[in-house]
Amino acid sequence: MPSADASPPSLAACRVHKFGGSSLADAALYRAAAALVAADAGPRIAVVSAMQGVTDALIALIAAARAGQDWRPGWEALRRRHLDAAQALDGDGRHWLAAALEEEFAELQASLGTLRDADPDAAAGLPGLGEVWSSRLMQSALGGEAAGWRRLDAREVLVVHPGEMGMAVDWDASRARLAAWRARHGSGDAVVTGFVARDARGRAVTLGRNGSDYSAAIFARLFEAEALTIWTDVDGVLSADPRLVPDAVCLPALSYAEACELAYFGAKVLHPQTLAPVQERGIPLWIRNTRRPQQPGTRVGPAPRAHARQREPGAPVKGLSLVRDLAIVELVGNGLVGVPGAAERLFGALRGAGVSVTMISQGSSEHSICCVVRAGHAARARDAAEAAFAEAIADGQAQGVSLTPGIAVLAAVGDGMVGTPGVAARLLGGLAQARVNVRAIAQGAGERNISVAVAEGDATRALRAAHAAFWLSPQTLSVGVIGPGQVGRALLAQLSAALPTLRERSGLDLRLRALANSRAMFLDERGVEPGDAVARLDGAAAQPVDLGRFAAHVRGEHLPHALIVDCSASAGVAAHYPRWLAQGIHVVTPNKHAGSGDWALYAAIQQASRAGGGRFRYEATVGAGLPVMLTLRNLLDTGDELIGIDGLLSGTLAWLFNRYDGTAPFSRLVREAMALGYTEPDPRDDLSGLDVARKLVILAREAGRALSLEDVDVENLVPAPLRAVSREEFLARLEELDAPMQARYRAAAAEGLRLRHLARLDADGARVGVVALPAEHACCHTRLTDNLVQFRTRRYADNPLVVQGPGAGPEVTAAGVFGDVLAIAQSLAAPCLPPPAPPEARA
Ligand code: ADP
Ligand code: ASP
Ligand code: MG
Repeated sequence: MPSADASPPSLAACRVHKFGGSSLADAALYRAAAALVAADAGPRIAVVSAMQGVTDALIALIAAARAGQDWRPGWEALRRRHLDAAQALDGDGRHWLAAALEEEFAELQASLGTLRDADPDAAAGLPGLGEVWSSRLMQSALGGEAAGWRRLDAREVLVVHPGEMGMAVDWDASRARLAAWRARHGSGDAVVTGFVARDARGRAVTLGRNGSDYSAAIFARLFEAEALTIWTDVDGVLSADPRLVPDAVCLPALSYAEACELAYFGAKVLHPQTLAPVQERGIPLWIRNTRRPQQPGTRVGPAPRAHARQREPGAPVKGLSLVRDLAIVELVGNGLVGVPGAAERLFGALRGAGVSVTMISQGSSEHSICCVVRAGHAARARDAAEAAFAEAIADGQAQGVSLTPGIAVLAAVGDGMVGTPGVAARLLGGLAQARVNVRAIAQGAGERNISVAVAEGDATRALRAAHAAFWLSPQTLSVGVIGPGQVGRALLAQLSAALPTLRERSGLDLRLRALANSRAMFLDERGVEPGDAVARLDGAAAQPVDLGRFAAHVRGEHLPHALIVDCSASAGVAAHYPRWLAQGIHVVTPNKHAGSGDWALYAAIQQASRAGGGRFRYEATVGAGLPVMLTLRNLLDTGDELIGIDGLLSGTLAWLFNRYDGTAPFSRLVREAMALGYTEPDPRDDLSGLDVARKLVILAREAGRALSLEDVDVENLVPAPLRAVSREEFLARLEELDAPMQARYRAAAAEGLRLRHLARLDADGARVGVVALPAEHACCHTRLTDNLVQFRTRRYADNPLVVQGPGAGPEVTAAGVFGDVLAIAQSLAAPCLPPPAPPEARA
């Protein structure tokens, strides 16, 4: 392993820039990368990977050649791609780029021709040729020798040997070779091939997949660089793999140990061996985005700014990563209790079998010892463990060794976990909420890493849930809205206006991720601005509506909570509620179909909500934004008993009877209400009393009565002969309503009573219709279209509780819906971790 560094300090400290294949896909990207290096003051070292996809292509070519298949088309495609890039970068041939490449492709062609049935070692260096070609392209993009850019082929300098973690560097030999190279070429700017090296016997080898990061760190140390920048296609090291967690955030700073742990546990952005060479010399490492160089990137260094770290949202956990393709080997035995050295024997056996262990977990009772190993080593691990405990198994001291394949390990990493209580609880709580079964848990003694083993099939869900638990506000809601009609649009406008403040003040992170009307829907991964949402239904992203997919998208695994707001008036949509609630999706609606429709649907909704955890709220179904359901619920929940409800539940009918004093005919008031827009397009929809009856059913059910629409005694104010005629005919014959109404008015007035359209629920049942009330009844003291609900209960027996106010219109209805959404969000707030201890106070 590394010997002490004895080389003299370099004359001028250089900076190393490494470009991954993702940053080098074509000539334009080489130019962009060259510009980034050139912007740095010299001396500069540019370490390059192969062009994107070239290493994969080379590996495929080699495999084809070894198998005796036709590799020529693949070879020709690679050659073409490089020559095209060369043409773009060195069209006039000033740098002899095409000629050099042609020569190297010819050599590759010759090598491939000899591979069939050859010793596998013969091809060990070939996958690294992509880096050789790439270094030529980069040198040319930088202006070539003429601009002072030399090319260093790492096969001339870097000497490595296989080690425990992968390839290890022979530092003395490499340093001596670099000195010789510098003696020949002088010091200054250089382009270096990543990924490739030579072994002690002089054969070309590679550093393992993704190894150019490691090359860059090695050269940073060999050149005594003052900084290393790894340029890639993401903004830095993110809190989790962005391909799996769309909400991953860029981490501003990491310690070497944190970065190493994340890389080791699968964060592809860094090869795990990258950290050691730079850490040893305290060289700071930056991860930055080639496409967004204005972003600061992630700094990995000896002293991450601890104070800054404490303010990060995910603190004290820095990142999460996932290793797949593992298996659990478990030794079970009651007889192992207290037997000294059982664990040692097991791990000794595994070491002897060449099995590396990813994670170890042992209960303090020692009843079982379990470890996680790579799937490819699983059978070997089991056999070795069985052999080591053969005697104990034969004696019945140990029950045996079991193997569970299909395992993934999720690791939470962060220096800040030291001494911070509650980290494991938060992680496990998040997993529990996502219903992920944890198979084994381990916490590194350094408390920098908590690992949990889960079934491979749960891995992505587990990662997303854990990410949400640490990074998202507990009040993060994934929201889908159905039916942007008048109420839906008003709701979207209200959300748009209120969300910024809500986000800032109370951490409510509401993301509108889906919108549907009866024809179309759009699904958005990150969430759209509610004010812009409706326009998207006609945009390119719109697709035919499919409520199954809609709900699955809203339910998205990476967000902790999901909510669907149904602003449609559709019974078809309401029929989906039980399924959604059972999946844990909360449902909020002003749609009366569920609350007042088929009893079976209502019962299914209640049952699903209880079983699945999704909450169902429908405040706006009665009295729009008025707190009617809320008041009733509070009365009942605090132990009061309902005696009866009287309600003016239709703004239209309330207005008609407020105005009707026998002077003007009833029909004239109906026409006036139509002109004011207070009625449905066909006023019979109001006069039938059906809508009021629906609201009464909703109230009755909330009060615990198993009531349905058929059970309500509804008076239809439309005379029977007018019920089936066309709207036009009905309106033409509207005066037929007048005489009977006039008669009722006179009879009531004679007794000092007033006519009101009332919904009444009491011990005798539920009735809707026109009644004559004494002047002191609350319903005789409303204004205009006000709704009113009067609750008579045991506590409010003599002086009933009244809720009154405007009970219709898109704005107030939307506000009622919004209130339900907020009530659900508030109920989701989970206790937060205590703030981490200040760094000085930590051990
Ligand atoms: P390059 O070609 O530049 O070496 P890689 O593909 O090897 O790039 O690595 C960058 C990729 O690593 C990113 O595009 C991202 O998809 C993946 N990745 C996985 N985990 C992380 C993480 N925690 N942070 C950032 N990127 C990650
Ligand atoms: N080109 C090599 C690979 O694809 C090395 C690297 O890109 O880091 O694995
Ligand atoms: Mg890489």
